[in-house]
Amino acid sequence: MYRSHHCGQLRSSNINEEVTLSGWVQKSRDKGFVIWVDLRDRYGITQLIFDAERTPEAMMTMAKSLGREFVIQVTGSVIERASKNPNLETGDIEILVSKLTVLNEAKVPPFTIEDQTDGGEELRMKYRYLDIRRNPVKDNLIFRHKVTQEVRSYLSSQEFVEVETPYLIKSTPEGARDFVVPSRMNEGQFYALPQSPQTFKQLLMVGGMDKYFQIVKCFRDEDLRADRQPEFTQIDCEMAFVDQEDILNIFEGLTRHLITSIHGKDITSFPRMTYDEAMETYGNDKPDIRFGMKFGELNAVTQHKDFSVFNAAELVVGIAVPGGNSFTRKEIDGIINWLKRPQIGALGMIYSRCNDDGTYKSSVDKFYDQDDLGKWAEVTGAQSGDLVCVLSGPTDKVRAQLSALRMELAERLGLRNPKEFAPLWVTDFPLLEWDEDSKRYHAMHHPFTAPKPDQISLLDTDPGAVKANAYDLVLNGNEIGGGSIRIHDKATQALMFDHLGFTPEEAKEQFGFLMNAFEYGAPPHGGLAFGLDRLVAILGGQETIRDFIAFPKNNSGRDVMIDAPSPIDTTQLNELHLKVDLK
Ligand code: ASP
Repeated sequence: MYRSHHCGQLRSSNINEEVTLSGWVQKSRDKGFVIWVDLRDRYGITQLIFDAERTPEAMMTMAKSLGREFVIQVTGSVIERASKNPNLETGDIEILVSKLTVLNEAKVPPFTIEDQTDGGEELRMKYRYLDIRRNPVKDNLIFRHKVTQEVRSYLSSQEFVEVETPYLIKSTPEGARDFVVPSRMNEGQFYALPQSPQTFKQLLMVGGMDKYFQIVKCFRDEDLRADRQPEFTQIDCEMAFVDQEDILNIFEGLTRHLITSIHGKDITSFPRMTYDEAMETYGNDKPDIRFGMKFGELNAVTQHKDFSVFNAAELVVGIAVPGGNSFTRKEIDGIINWLKRPQIGALGMIYSRCNDDGTYKSSVDKFYDQDDLGKWAEVTGAQSGDLVCVLSGPTDKVRAQLSALRMELAERLGLRNPKEFAPLWVTDFPLLEWDEDSKRYHAMHHPFTAPKPDQISLLDTDPGAVKANAYDLVLNGNEIGGGSIRIHDKATQALMFDHLGFTPEEAKEQFGFLMNAFEYGAPPHGGLAFGLDRLVAILGGQETIRDFIAFPKNNSGRDVMIDAPSPIDTTQLNELHLKVDLK
C-alpha cells in the first residue's frame, strides 16, 4: 500500500494515528538537528519532520539528501505542530517520520514548482508535466473536469445521448482549412479531420436519435490568431423537431445550470438581441453587456454644419465614456494614438467633454455650439462628467473601431468584472457574407444553415439581406457558442449550394451523402456547439484558453513538449505514397 491518506487530508483529529503518505518533495528546510520537508500530491501539502532526538541517524542522513521533486513514501505518526500554519489545511499537524523510502529521484526541475513560478511560458510548455504539478494549472484542469461533468449531467437529464462520431472523415467545409491524413491503403486519397461533427450530427437526427451531444475534439487548420488552438473541444449538440425557440431555451438552461452549479449565482436576465441591433448598438456581434457605453448614431445631429469630415462620412457614431471628462489632454491624445495604430486604423477622434456645470467643451467647438453638443450628449446618453468620443467613416470600419475603443476603455476603467456573468443571445444572423477576395458569397455560419423561410425568395434578388435562424451565445464579450436551424430538404440544400457557387456535380461529389439522407425522411432539426475551452476559461474568470488545456500547442501551432509537427522517415512516406520535395 503506497498510502493510507493523501497529502491534503490529515487534521488535528488524526493526531497519534500512524499513517503512510506518498508524494513529491516540494521543499525541505534543514536546520541541522531538525529537517522539515513539505510533501505534495494533487490534494495538498503535508509537513514531515525529522529530528535528531527522535529520528535514527541513518534516516536523518537520508532526509538531508532529499532533493526537490524526489518521489518518496513515508510512514510516521501524526503529531501536533509547534507552530501552526493557518494558511494550510493540514497546517495544524506534521508527520514524525519513522520510515522513509525514496521511490524515485528527480533532476532539479527547470523552473520552480510553486504557484508563482520563475519559468517562462515556452519552458513550462516544454515541461508541461512539471507545470501540471503547480496549483494554478492543476486547479484549472480539475475545474475543467467539473464543468464537463456538469454539462454531461445537465444534458443527460434533458434526455440528450452522447454519441461519438468519427475523426477520420471527408472534409466538411466550415470556413477553415482541413487537416488531412493520407490513406496508406488508398493511394492518393486522404481523410480529413473534422472541423466539427456537423454533418454526422445531422445524420444522427435523420437516424432518429432525437437529442445528441458530444464533448468532442475539432480540428481547424487556420492561421493562428492569439489564443486559438488548431485542435479544440466543442460541446456539440443537435435536436430534432425543434425550432429556434426550443434550442435557445434548452441552452439557456444549460448556461444557467453551469453558472449556478459552479459559482452559486443565478443569472437574473438572459437578454436576446438581433445581429443588426448588436451591430448598431455595440458595433460588434459579440457585445460585452456588463457595462454601458452604447453607440449613439450622430449623423442627424452632426451633418448640418460645415465640418466636412463628418459630412462626408457614411456613419458618425459616438459613445459616452463614464467619468471620462477627468481624462487629461495627454490621456486623450494617448487614446487617439491608440486608435490610430494600424491594428485599429482610425484616422482620428473627435471628443466633447461634459462639464459638471452642464456646459460642453469639444475638439470641434469651431463648428458646433452648445446646443449641438447637448444633442451629442443626449444621443450617446452622456451625463455630466463623461466624455463623448466620436468616430466617423464607412459604417463597417467605424463600428469595428469604436467597438475596439469601447472594449479598451472598459478594460482600463475596470468595467469588465470577471466575477460577473452576462450572457446574451445574438439572433438572426445574415445567411450569407460577401467575401471580397473570392468575390462571392460564403455561408456566414455554414452551408447547412436554413434561411428564414419567408426570406428564401430574396436569395435571388438580394442575397446579402437574407437572414437565417442562426444564433450565437455570447458571454462577457466572447462568443462561446453558435448554431442554427438546418436545412432538412434536398431542394433547399441544393439551392443553397448553388448560391454558394457549387456546381450540382460538386455538390453531389462532396455532399451527396447528406442530400441522399434528406430523401429518406429527415426531420426538421437544429443545434449548436459551445467552445468548451473558452467557456471553461471564462467560467474560471480568465480569458486564456491555453491555461485550461492539459497539453496545448504554442502560438505557432507546435507542441514543444513532444516536438510536433515533425518530419517522418522515407519508409513511412513511401507507404503513404507521398513524395516530399524538401528544398
Ligand atoms: N458546427 C457548428 C460549429 O462548429 C455549430 C453548429 O452549427 O451546431 O460552429
